[in-house]
Amino acid sequence: MARLTKAHLRYLEHHGIDVDETFDASGLKRAEYRPRMKAEGKFVAYGVTKCHNGHSLRNRYGTCIECFPASIAFARRSEMSGYLYLAKSADLGLIKVGFSGDDPDNRIYIANLEGYGGAWDWQICLTVWADHAGAKEIAVHQSLADFRAERAWIRNGAGIVSREMFDCELAAGIDALMSQLTAREVQLIEYR
Ligand SMILES: [Zn+2]
Repeated sequence: MARLTKAHLRYLEHHGIDVDETFDASGLKRAEYRPRMKAEGKFVAYGVTKCHNGHSLRNRYGTCIECFPASIAFARRSEMSGYLYLAKSADLGLIKVGFSGDDPDNRIYIANLEGYGGAWDWQICLTVWADHAGAKEIAVHQSLADFRAERAWIRNGAGIVSREMFDCELAAGIDALMSQLTAREVQLIEYR
């Protein structure tokens, strides 16, 4: 048995990881803790061997989450259920495929406040609740990769490049999205 240290708890809290999402991997090899963590929905292993920087929190693939904090956010996000949405900007002539854990309308509201991608007229065309929505969002982005429209824009005074916009017909976006959904999820699509 291993225990989480106070420093671990501070780190987890800072990154929004609940103690319920951690897994005591003492005595287990990576090939052993990975499937168990996946089955139990755990994201962070402790009681693991230290990384070369002396940390002992790893994701289920064995990557040190203190050296590579992005790895944990990525893993959690891809497994979250949530809303996938398709939005379009008539001004840009582009569509946007995105994921929101709880409120796609709020996401688009903020996109229009910020001028996401250089547009202030984003409108949601459809939403659907899906399991593993983060992973499905990534799969849709990959299947639309030929249409990816990168646009530099300014958020809060800082230049960023959007990678969620695509220069294709709405119907092509819908097809790409539907091909990632289960039959039950397809029934849940809400068109606007
Ligand atoms: Zn480390």
